[in-house]
Amino acid sequence: MNYHKKTVRDVDVRGKKVLLRCDFNVPMAKDGSGVITDDKRIRASLPTIRYLLENGAAVIACSHMGKPNATYAAYVKKQTEKGKDPASLTEEGWKKSLEQLSLKPVAARLGQLLGQEVIMAADVVGPDAAAKAAALQPGQILLLENTRFEPGETKNDPELAKKLASMADLYVSDAFGAVHRAHASTVGVAAYLPAVSGFLIQKELEIIGGALADPKRPLVAILGGSKVSSKIGVINNLLSIADTIIIGGGMAYTFSAAQGGQVGDSLLEPDWKDYANDMVKKAAEKGVKLLLPVDTVCADAFAPDAKSQVVKAGRIPDGWQGLDIGPETVKLYCDAVKDAGTVIWNGPMGVFEFPAFAKGTEAVARALSETSAITIIGGGDSAAAVAQLGYADKMTHISTGGGASLEFMEGKELPGVACLLDQ
Ligand code: ADP
Ligand code: MG
Repeated sequence: MNYHKKTVRDVDVRGKKVLLRCDFNVPMAKDGSGVITDDKRIRASLPTIRYLLENGAAVIACSHMGKPNATYAAYVKKQTEKGKDPASLTEEGWKKSLEQLSLKPVAARLGQLLGQEVIMAADVVGPDAAAKAAALQPGQILLLENTRFEPGETKNDPELAKKLASMADLYVSDAFGAVHRAHASTVGVAAYLPAVSGFLIQKELEIIGGALADPKRPLVAILGGSKVSSKIGVINNLLSIADTIIIGGGMAYTFSAAQGGQVGDSLLEPDWKDYANDMVKKAAEKGVKLLLPVDTVCADAFAPDAKSQVVKAGRIPDGWQGLDIGPETVKLYCDAVKDAGTVIWNGPMGVFEFPAFAKGTEAVARALSETSAITIIGGGDSAAAVAQLGYADKMTHISTGGGASLEFMEGKELPGVACLLDQ
């Protein structure tokens, strides 16, 4: 995938109406109070928004929030269980579901952060949005309602894309977390407007794209997390790029079992054992160093206060399960990143959510914070682990896109990036 894309700096934005796709899909309090529990994604959008406003653009921001269809389905299920006739629910229930997923709280928070009013539209491409967009002046910002309130959004409906595009002169994409989805507001609009990237996407492309295309070597990839099956694409792609691949987390037990090891009650995907052996063979053929755990911290239950012991890899007793890499493995893995030029890390080394089994993940995070290598973290849980353990500001780059960063590392084309103008 060509990742050299035009950015907001490569076009004249002065006096333009700019449709800006952001990722404002922020976590909200479950009680329906509209309280945003983490505004990281809103903050991440500020540099591009400020640049556009300061350079004389009128900004029409848009984003999705949650899954309206699923929220509505859950509502109907609950009411039906209470004995209501589903046919009577449609209108009222759909409205209620939409209220919960309104971007109104985002407009308020964004306004506070920017120190200026964020005008909120009552719809996405309806009369209110159209009127407010038409009246918008340079230096002002309008936020459209949740793009998924329009059924055409997730279908990448050209009619919806055309309506969105008709409000603006330029499209700027800065929602890296959504570029792996071909929707009307992430891809469709680019057919009708010149399309460039904002600073957030530019940084993701430069750093991750650069590390995959022309890495500072040696390139060490650390892969963990729960399942081999969800990481095959990443392992496969990195096998052709990396100098060293380190395997940790739950998927290590499938590798161990494939080599005849005893893994007790550890996470195991028996159908993927052959694949694991193939990977080991392929790595040897390609001259890629593949490191597997030599010891493991196992527990007598999947619980934060479980009894634990350290055993050699492949020697996990019945009734026990591996929840973290062991101390010998920690040493081996930390040594391997010391002289790296680039480290790409996806997937925690253990169940870091339980402090007793977070040691392996923490040690690797610390080792990354101490190398002079370019360090890149991809994946939602990995980013959360690094933040939770307090190493977030010690990394070169923590990707803002969970699924998007994984597909990028798999070498897949990201439709929301492919549709932007090449440099
Ligand atoms: P990412 O979101 O960064 O791509 P994954 O979703 O693949 O990462 O994996 C993260 C999850 O893997 C975490 O919730 C963690 O608890 C789990 N995990 C790691 N090691 C183990 C293990 N040994 N057994 C069970 N789960 C594990
Ligand atoms: Mg995950």
